[in-house]
Amino acid sequence: MSGRAFDELLAYQRETEALAQVAGRLSWDQETVMPRGAAAQRAEEMGAMEAVLHARRTDPRVGDWLAAAEAPDDRGAAQLRLIRRDHARACAVPADLATALARLTSRAQGVWAEAREMSDFSLFAPVLDEVVRLKREEGAALARGGDVYDALLDGFEPGATAAELQAMFDEMRPRLVALRLRALDGPERAAVQGRFDAAEQMRLAREMAERFGYDFTRGRVDQAVHPFSSGSGDDVRITTRTAPDDPFNCLYSTIHEVGHACYEQGIDRALHMTPAGHGVSMGVHESQSRIYENQLGRSRAFCHFLYGRMRDTFGEIGVADEEAFYATVNRLHRGYIRTEADEVQYNLHVMLRFDLERALIAGDLQVADLEAAWNDRFADDFGYPVDRAANGVLQDVHWSVGLFGYFPTYALGNVYAGCLHAALRRAVPDLDAHLAEGEPGAATAWLRENVQRHGGLYAPREVIARACGAGPTAGPLLDYLDGKFGALYPA
Ligand code: ZN
Repeated sequence: MSGRAFDELLAYQRETEALAQVAGRLSWDQETVMPRGAAAQRAEEMGAMEAVLHARRTDPRVGDWLAAAEAPDDRGAAQLRLIRRDHARACAVPADLATALARLTSRAQGVWAEAREMSDFSLFAPVLDEVVRLKREEGAALARGGDVYDALLDGFEPGATAAELQAMFDEMRPRLVALRLRALDGPERAAVQGRFDAAEQMRLAREMAERFGYDFTRGRVDQAVHPFSSGSGDDVRITTRTAPDDPFNCLYSTIHEVGHACYEQGIDRALHMTPAGHGVSMGVHESQSRIYENQLGRSRAFCHFLYGRMRDTFGEIGVADEEAFYATVNRLHRGYIRTEADEVQYNLHVMLRFDLERALIAGDLQVADLEAAWNDRFADDFGYPVDRAANGVLQDVHWSVGLFGYFPTYALGNVYAGCLHAALRRAVPDLDAHLAEGEPGAATAWLRENVQRHGGLYAPREVIARACGAGPTAGPLLDYLDGKFGALYPA
């Protein structure tokens, strides 16, 4: 009886997973090859898919099955845990609130894009105010008496709390600020120079994807406005973009997305199309993209290899030698934009958003005062004023689409990557010799074995603890950053 309930529930979930994959494929299509004139029809198609998925997630039969089901083993127990959690979250939010949020955020995203174009926060503030109000309501419904922000955060990083992240970030912030001050004290390092043909950039990017272990028989690389990875199991696609004067944009965003994609492709085949068949959290996901991009892709050893490939491909690129190339790849520079920030300053961008969004949700900060609060904090942490709203409070899409609680998972991913990198170096002592030949395979095999294959079987902290032998802390990331950038920017 209970075994049957389990089997029926898993079969039902499998169909839900399949439909969710289809919905994801519609979004991928929209960002890559959809004809422009199809936008309105696509919105209707995606709305219909969302309604079907929501109805399935809140279907009372799921509750009945969960009450009756007995897991046959540990993996089964993990599946039930994930289904129970997803069902509880989906049922906690009243249907009319969910609909209102979907409608509002779809409008708010358009308003935000226009406000950013005009660089005028006052155009965006009224609709953001509505978004914050509804997100507070949603958070309260999810929290069931607990902390509202934590309930939102839990949607992206199950089990994480703002208090624990705050403690971690408090430890990081002074050391990061000191590092950025030291690096930006002297003259800025130059960027590369030359002609970087777009088709050649894409060719090199695909080569890098292959070297880092991306399986092209179960994925593809296309160009889009924003780099992203989408899908799970046997169909995991990534996008990238090219800039005529900056080949690193294409190369490193490709390696970053390959990290996300390899996580999905590396999950144990037996878990495909089940609730545990995805990366377990945004933080763990970001740890994979970051370690591929930064700790491996921007390492001195890999830069040795890449320098040769860049010169083979583009000829003269305006750097004197290999050492200068490594310094250029890892240069710290002044800037306002999170997505363009280096390994050190990126985390400062995240912490700023984390503090502001928590204050917004708590009601300690009003939307009317958000721009001023952003500008004050930016000047404190970065040492120069924001020049325009488009480069400040309006730069990210997240808040317009209601993604409160998402930002901290970027920095948490860096922290996890720091822990994993330290453990990886212990496990593969001759890693640099492989990287110098353009072969990160020993690293990606270790990550697959110790992180990726588990999918959603273990909680995020547990994934890191199992791989590293200890729970996540900021220490390894900070030591890595101090070591690397301390050497690049000696005092
Ligand atoms: Zn990412």
